[in-house]
Amino acid sequence: MLINTKALVLKSVPFKESDLIVTLFTERLGKTTVLVKGAKKMKSRLSHSIQVFTIGHYTFYKKNNNLPILRQGDVVLAHKNPSLNFGILSASYYVCEFINFFMPENEPNPKFFNLAAKTMHLLTSRSKEALLILAGFKIKSMALMGYAPCLTECVLCGQSKDDYIFSISQGGLVCDGCLPHKNKFITKRQRFLMLLLLRTTFEEILKADIQEKEIKQMNIIFNKYIQYYSDGHIFKSEQVFQKI
Ligand SMILES: [Zn+2]
Repeated sequence: MLINTKALVLKSVPFKESDLIVTLFTERLGKTTVLVKGAKKMKSRLSHSIQVFTIGHYTFYKKNNNLPILRQGDVVLAHKNPSLNFGILSASYYVCEFINFFMPENEPNPKFFNLAAKTMHLLTSRSKEALLILAGFKIKSMALMGYAPCLTECVLCGQSKDDYIFSISQGGLVCDGCLPHKNKFITKRQRFLMLLLLRTTFEEILKADIQEKEIKQMNIIFNKYIQYYSDGHIFKSEQVFQKI
């Protein structure tokens, strides 16, 4: 069976002498691995389309339970020189590593694919805002997987109060009445920014006036949040990012 789908290239590993096994996050089938025959040969016509971080239209042949074989790949989006910009490189790597970790094989998730594709497009066109785009990706992707934090009222009693802490284990805001001994409140501004990233489009987010310090704070909170819901998994790319 021939399958046509848009996809993001997540990673590739060598296989036999000249082949590659490429992991794609496809729009139609979810995460899928495909075999690319002769990919390591200099003249492979598929070589451009299977670079990591590339988005393209792909056609592969799938028969029974065999590894699908890639037949065609047409590039839609490619980073021109990601290695020249360490910020984009790390952010793109994070998106791919995140999808590879959380997405199960062969379970389509078009909404998540759209978020991933949008994020990769923005990282290419708005590279200076890589850290803000990445923060938006983190909170939106957690929400799409059913882990949206509650940011409008206390997650335990449901009441609206003036002061809250952000409880990662409870999944959002907790008022001082419910946790009287842990009084490290988050500010109204932090609540507003987290809601902005969760609920509005990237276009709106990128128009907002947000300081670099605030973006870093959100990334730290979201990293802890993601780590909690991934059973303590630490993304390699995130460690690299923090060193920039
Ligand atoms: Zn409460």
